[in-house]
Amino acid sequence: MKVLVAGAGGFIGGHLVKRLIDEGHQVRGVDKKDLSDWYQVHDESENKVLDLSLLENAMLSTQDTEWVFNLAADMGGMGFIENNKALCMLSSLINTHLLLSSTRNGVKRYFFSSSACVYASWHQTTAEDISLKEADAYPADPEDGYGWEKLFGERMCRHFSEDFGLEVRIARYHNVYGPHGTYDGGREKAPAAACRKTYEFADKRVNAIQIWGDGKQVRSFTYITDCIDGTMNLMKSNYSEPLNIGSSESITIQDLYDIAIGEAKVVDVPFNYDLNAPQGVRGRSSDNTLCKEVLGWVPKVNIQEGMKLTYEWISKEMKSA
Ligand code: NAD
Repeated sequence: MKVLVAGAGGFIGGHLVKRLIDEGHQVRGVDKKDLSDWYQVHDESENKVLDLSLLENAMLSTQDTEWVFNLAADMGGMGFIENNKALCMLSSLINTHLLLSSTRNGVKRYFFSSSACVYASWHQTTAEDISLKEADAYPADPEDGYGWEKLFGERMCRHFSEDFGLEVRIARYHNVYGPHGTYDGGREKAPAAACRKTYEFADKRVNAIQIWGDGKQVRSFTYITDCIDGTMNLMKSNYSEPLNIGSSESITIQDLYDIAIGEAKVVDVPFNYDLNAPQGVRGRSSDNTLCKEVLGWVPKVNIQEGMKLTYEWISKEMKSA
C-alpha cells in the first residue's frame, strides 16, 4: 500500500514510518523541518520537506496514496501548549488541507492524531477517579488552544466522513514517550524531562532536580511501541469514532522522577518544587474499556520498562552530545 505519514520528522511519525516500512508498505514521509532535524530518517521511504498547512503541498503529498496518517502538528509538553495557544490552533490548517486533499485525491483511509487534551476539564480536577472514557469529551471544555484544535479536528474528520465518504480513524493519544523524541528545548514532555533532569543531576551538572508543581499530579504514560501498535490496530479496524490509545497505569509525577532516579542509580536527590510552573490538569488516565472491546487490545509496556529504555536512550544522547 502507498502511505503518507505527515509529521514523519517528529517523534511518533519517525517510529510509524519504520513500522510501515517493516510491514512492507511504500511510505512517503513529509515534515516541514529540515531533514537534518528529523528525529529519524529512514532511507527506505520517500522523504519530503514541505509545509502541510498549505493546500498545494497537501495535494502533492497525498497524491497516489491510499492511507494518510496525519501526525503533523505544532505541539509540545505543558510548558509549550500553555504558552503557544495560537500556534497550536494553527495546526487546524494542516488537518483542513490534508482532509481536503485526501478527499480530492481519492485517499481510502485517513488517520487523525488527537489527544487526551480534548477531555473536559471538570473530569480532571482531582487525583482520584481519573480514568477518562471517550464520552467524557462532551459537553466540551478541553485544554485551551491545543485541546480545542484537536476537538475541532476530530469533528472535521467526522463531517468529512459523513458528507464526503472519507473513511476516518481517530486516536486520542495519552502522553506518549520513548526514544527518538525531544528531551530539551521547551517542547519535551514529562517523561523525557524527568530523564534529562535526572541525567543532569547524575552527571553533576546541577545539584538538585526541579519538578513542575508539587509532584502529586497523576498521569498515565504510553510507551511508543504501544502507541504504534494501537495506531496500526485502529487504522486496520472498522471503528471510525475517536478512541483512547493510552496506558491505564496511572502514577504521580513524583513517581515518574523516582523511576528515572532509580535508573540513574543516584541517591539522596534534593528536589525543588516550582508551584508556578505549568502543571496541566490534576489527574488524567485512559479508560480502556472501549479500546479493548473495539480492538481486542490494550497497551502492554509498563512504566518501569518504558522509562528504562527511555532513560538509556536520553542519557546516551546527552553523553555523546
Ligand atoms: P512531534 O512534535 O515530535 O511531531 C510533529 C511533527 O509535525 C514535527 O516534526 C513538526 O515539524 C511537524 N509539523 C508541524 N507543523 C507542520 C507543517 N505545517 N507541515 C509539516 N509538518 C509539520 O510530535 P509527536 O509527539 O510525534 O506527535 C504527533 C501527533 O500526535 C501530533 O498531532 C500530536 O498532537 C499528537 N499527540 C501526541 C502526544 C504525545 O504525547 N507525543 C499526545 C497526544 C497527541
